[in-house]
Amino acid sequence: METKIVKAFGTEALNVPLHTMNIKRRELQPHDVEMEILFCGICHSDLHQIKNDFGHTAFPIVPGHEIVGKVTQVGDHVKSFKTGDLAAIGCIVDSCGKCEYCEDGTEQFCDEGVTFSFNSPDKYLGGTTFGGFSETYVCNEKYVLHVPETLDLASAAPLLCAGITVYSPLKHWQAGPGKKVGILGIGGLGHLAIKIAKAMGAEVTVFTTSPSKVEDAKRLGADEAVLSSDAEQMSRYFRKLHLIIDTVSAKHDVNTYLNLLKPDGSVVLVGLPPEPIEVGAFNIVGGRHSFSGSNIGGIAETQEMLDFCAKHNITADIELINVQQVNEAFERLEKGDVKYRFVIDMATLKK
Ligand code: NAP
Ligand code: ZN
Repeated sequence: METKIVKAFGTEALNVPLHTMNIKRRELQPHDVEMEILFCGICHSDLHQIKNDFGHTAFPIVPGHEIVGKVTQVGDHVKSFKTGDLAAIGCIVDSCGKCEYCEDGTEQFCDEGVTFSFNSPDKYLGGTTFGGFSETYVCNEKYVLHVPETLDLASAAPLLCAGITVYSPLKHWQAGPGKKVGILGIGGLGHLAIKIAKAMGAEVTVFTTSPSKVEDAKRLGADEAVLSSDAEQMSRYFRKLHLIIDTVSAKHDVNTYLNLLKPDGSVVLVGLPPEPIEVGAFNIVGGRHSFSGSNIGGIAETQEMLDFCAKHNITADIELINVQQVNEAFERLEKGDVKYRFVIDMATLKK
């Protein structure tokens, strides 16, 4: 297959800082869209992958899956995009297209497994896919999203992963008027979960380990904010919540939060701590509680989320950086030192 060489920012090995490199993008297929990447968010999943936290990172790696930009070329059969359109790519860039899940728009559950935008086997070029820390992306139009014109493009980028990852379970578990929703962890996912759950009409309480985020949580729209190390404050929420979205990226005790659920309530894990999680029998059996999980969302739901965020004027609180600052940004993300999402101005890759 014909390829094009483009610039990217990635690394060939574990513990080697990310740097400028060249990668290949496929030449346009009839249903492909090529986009120039303008902004790309940095998700904690990018950090887990470059550290090989899950043990399946393939090097070389180019992270990035919160991708927004402009269409620069379209294949002969592309119907839904034209050159110059705003466009976005999230976590999924391919799937089998035939199984029951692809047919009903929940591609994240594809029987054959989806192709992720980075570090996933590349069906076209062999090797693995390279993500959005790069000049361009080429992908079948089925997996490309339309970005509503009213959203600020840089701060909309994090919606493509963080946004859909919290929107999907909030909708599935019916966050809305009359529902008391807890959000655990105020990072990239957590801060968007506050905004989206509020826009859905739920009453939102956040639980944070960071004293500096307690006040800020209210600015983000939370009704209440609790420092999780304060046992007295925590005890006030015993049996109070219908649903808790757990976005924590590291080892933590979920049993504490199962105890905050009303009967029939659910703790939904979206964070990906690399270690196994222990759930005590009495913390789920007594109140018919559920401990469950949720993985991003399908393409149709991602578009629905973007339109919902445009309607409610929701974007991420971002710190815009140059691509040359990526290694420092990963160090800060590891320490929880970002309010609340790093986004890379990809024009700086041309420097
Ligand atoms: P993030 O910005 O780093 O936020 C994670 C937050 O978790 C931190 O800000 C911190 O909040 C809290 N936290 C961190 N370490 C903690 C600890 N040891 N104990 C308690 N709380 C801790 O990360 P993110 O980008 O939002 O991603 C969060 C997790 O979701 C990551 O594991 C990521 O890989 C995963 N993820 C999953 C999906 C999916 O589809 N399921 C999609 C995207 C990301 P406070 O300071 O408020 O305590
Ligand atoms: Zn992500």
